[in-house]
Amino acid sequence: MSEEFNKFKFRNEKVAKDIIEQLNNLELELSIMHVCGTHQDTLVKHGLEGMLRDVGIRILQGPGCPVCVTTPREVEEILALARNGITVTAFGDMIKVPGVNSSLYEARSQGADVRIVYSVDDAVDIADKIENDVVFMSVGFETTSPSTAAVIAKRPSENFSILPCNRVVPPALEAILSMGELKLDGLIEPGHVSTIIGTKPYEPLSERYHIPQVVAGFEPVDLLMAVLMIARQVKSGRAEVENEYTRVVKSEGNLKALELLDQVFVPVDVEWRGFPKIPGSGYKLKKEYGSYDARDRFPDILEPIADMEFHEPEGCLCGEVLRGLIDSRECPMFGTECTPMNPIGPCMVSSEGSCNIAFRYR
Ligand code: SF4
Repeated sequence: MSEEFNKFKFRNEKVAKDIIEQLNNLELELSIMHVCGTHQDTLVKHGLEGMLRDVGIRILQGPGCPVCVTTPREVEEILALARNGITVTAFGDMIKVPGVNSSLYEARSQGADVRIVYSVDDAVDIADKIENDVVFMSVGFETTSPSTAAVIAKRPSENFSILPCNRVVPPALEAILSMGELKLDGLIEPGHVSTIIGTKPYEPLSERYHIPQVVAGFEPVDLLMAVLMIARQVKSGRAEVENEYTRVVKSEGNLKALELLDQVFVPVDVEWRGFPKIPGSGYKLKKEYGSYDARDRFPDILEPIADMEFHEPEGCLCGEVLRGLIDSRECPMFGTECTPMNPIGPCMVSSEGSCNIAFRYR
């Protein structure tokens, strides 16, 4: 399959139409979930959603945006650090995510030292240059977590720490399948996460839930081919993990990155926005690196927040969007009260959020 596929260009319209025709000939009605903002961008930008819907295939975006799945509690934690005089560093998307009363963006306009960084290395550079404590809000899936692990393994300046908000994808997939809110016929797995973890971590899901899974790249033909591979599995009664993105993803993943994750982090049970606690789906720094964990370092500021209850912004349906229960456009506030200029929830803030993507290409 892959050799034959690699001969084609990944944006070739004729190939795309041929795949759609093959899907049409299979005469299936399928619901398939992916968990990747870049996949969603490709699907919407190139009109693939509609082409697939016309041949009976519905594609849903699950919890595939790291900024969107960050919880209201984590937003309040980083805001509390900023309000207490700590220099806070975060990715650009993160600083506009609304908290209970404000965002990092607003905290900065009120005098807090909040800085946008493009990588964890930028945050370490800031810590090297100033005396104040610097906290990096470490948001991301397995794709970005290894670079944070690499920085911590080198033991940066003592005034540097991270607020671990990292997430691990396979346990979230298990949560979706075990909750049973949706009847899914297949999962498209994210190419860049799979570059790190490989294909093996998905195998227990296919065994336990008899669900076909395909790791996919990010071009239109990659995604269409992944859908066709899932459809062929359904038609033949198979439930396996296949790899459409063989030009990048190896079954064993990136061993060096996995070693780094294992050296620095320990898996913990964490909530995701819209989900209850998911076992083993987050990270905490190992004891020997504990001085770099903001939750261990600033307990007076952060421990009180651990016991508080938080809710979604009023009327925001990000939780339902992230669980694939509704399309962003079904939210009554989509494009009216909630826009990228005035976002109510994180799914409208982040360029990987499905509300933001739906708004940009509407
Ligand atoms: S459109 Fe806005 S309010 Fe509605 S789910 Fe998306 S982010 Fe939340």
